[in-house]
Amino acid sequence: MPLETFKLTKFRFIELLLFVVESRISALPDHPYKKDYNLHTQNAVFDLFLTFMQSQKIKTTLCIIGAGPAGATASIFLCKMGIKHMIIDAAVFPRDKVCGDGLDLNSIRVLNHIDPTIIEKELSVNKKHFTASQGFRFILPGGRKVDIMRDQKKDDHVNKPVFFVSKRADFDNLLVSRIDRNIADVRLSTRIENITREAKTWKLEGEGPDGKIEIETDFLIGADGDHSVVLKYLGERSIDRNNYAGAVRQYWSGVQGMHPGNLLEVYFPKSLPLSYFWIFPLPGGKANVGYGMASNYIAKHNINVRKAFEELIKNDPVLTPRFKNAQPQETVKGWGIPMSGNDRKAYGDGWLLLGDAASLVCPTSGEGIGSGMISAYVASKFLKRAIDQNDFSEKMFSNYNREIHKRLRTEEKVYRFVNSIPPKVFSLGINTILSTWLFKYWLSNKAMKKWVDTAYNKEIDVKLT
Ligand SMILES: Cc1cc2nc3c(=O)[nH]c(=O)nc-3n(C[C@H](O)[C@H](O)[C@H](O)COP(=O)(O)OP(=O)(O)OC[C@H]3O[C@@H](n4cnc5c(N)ncnc54)[C@H](O)[C@@H]3O)c2cc1C
Repeated sequence: MPLETFKLTKFRFIELLLFVVESRISALPDHPYKKDYNLHTQNAVFDLFLTFMQSQKIKTTLCIIGAGPAGATASIFLCKMGIKHMIIDAAVFPRDKVCGDGLDLNSIRVLNHIDPTIIEKELSVNKKHFTASQGFRFILPGGRKVDIMRDQKKDDHVNKPVFFVSKRADFDNLLVSRIDRNIADVRLSTRIENITREAKTWKLEGEGPDGKIEIETDFLIGADGDHSVVLKYLGERSIDRNNYAGAVRQYWSGVQGMHPGNLLEVYFPKSLPLSYFWIFPLPGGKANVGYGMASNYIAKHNINVRKAFEELIKNDPVLTPRFKNAQPQETVKGWGIPMSGNDRKAYGDGWLLLGDAASLVCPTSGEGIGSGMISAYVASKFLKRAIDQNDFSEKMFSNYNREIHKRLRTEEKVYRFVNSIPPKVFSLGINTILSTWLFKYWLSNKAMKKWVDTAYNKEIDVKLT
């Protein structure tokens, strides 16, 4: 084992102690009591082991489960306000998360709130981990390309990219590294397995690097993603297929025909309407390649998304030539996308949900990092008020759902409409609308300009009342 990965956990400490004691005793000259001596010492070490094996018990006022983009962002803002709390994650960072790795303007907006220099001084210069992008490219079912990007001459495109693409291992690690450990008690490699509540106190039981752990907290924040243990406790872990998507990802290198402005590519295959295939450019000639579609469509047509993805790469007239000399970097990995649309109740007496746990992925794009980070920013404002008034009751958070959904309402409506029309009509619509000059002009010159201005210049407005 390389030295830097060796961690002196309790178990290793006991193992080491036992080894040292035994080797010292066996080195002693033979003596009638040597055997007893050895046994007593082993028993003493074993007692010590049992003591250590007992759960570590910790109390905290506020506990966040999950240090993905939503949980880590909440922790960063709580630290900025000087609010002490604990944040727990089952993983050790950097860690992978199945995702398209596209950071949209919502993510950029929250990053600018975390640190107004972070885009210019960190993301834009760290070319090993972040690819700056000037827009996106739609590839229509017939193969026609429509590029949506800002005017390279007029806009401040160098300092204000529209997207970044960064492996989640790198991006999430950056966020976790921004948590102020003087204020937050950060517990990684700690999985919460059971949640109970007695009166107003939450009891979280799990396994940490040193064995069992028991945490008592007054307030619980579920930022633990789509497979949330908090949702399980609340009895809300069921999947609503009308607002859920299945998707796969595979890292590739050497995909041909990428745009020099690093446009994020979205392709609508003719063979499977109501789905999209993406190729997002990563640093070092790599790409995040993936495919996703609505779960109700998957169920209705009994589609295996992984197989459909592999089939498209092998036999699709638009895609196959681009993968001729490309190499996959991993096996295909899948994960679910809980989309915004069913207004899952994301608050209650002594608890809040953030990000995927609150079903906040934008239903038209599949982007959930930014909306998760926004929910964390919004939550931090509600929590500050609750702490100032020493009141964690449900009424303190009654406007939280409204505030986390207000930026997603238009997309929710568009998604409901798209779902209500036959897939073939959707394909026809995509082919005609997206290829019109007017639509391209509006998106590139009007809409995108406004979105960029909001992300870089406008404060996120949160109304508590
Ligand atoms: C294939 C795919 C492609 C996607 N592409 C994009 C994209 O390009 N752009 C975009 O914006 N969004 C994308 N999304 C959505 C995005 O990945 C999620 O919306 C985002 O990760 C949500 O962040 P989160 O912090 O809520 O949850 P997560 O990122 O899932 O983080 C949850 C954290 O909780 C921890 N955890 C879970 N259970 C426990 C437990 N019991 N105890 C302790 N810790 C626990 C996990 O280890 C994890 O670190 C994609 C999703 C998929 C599946």
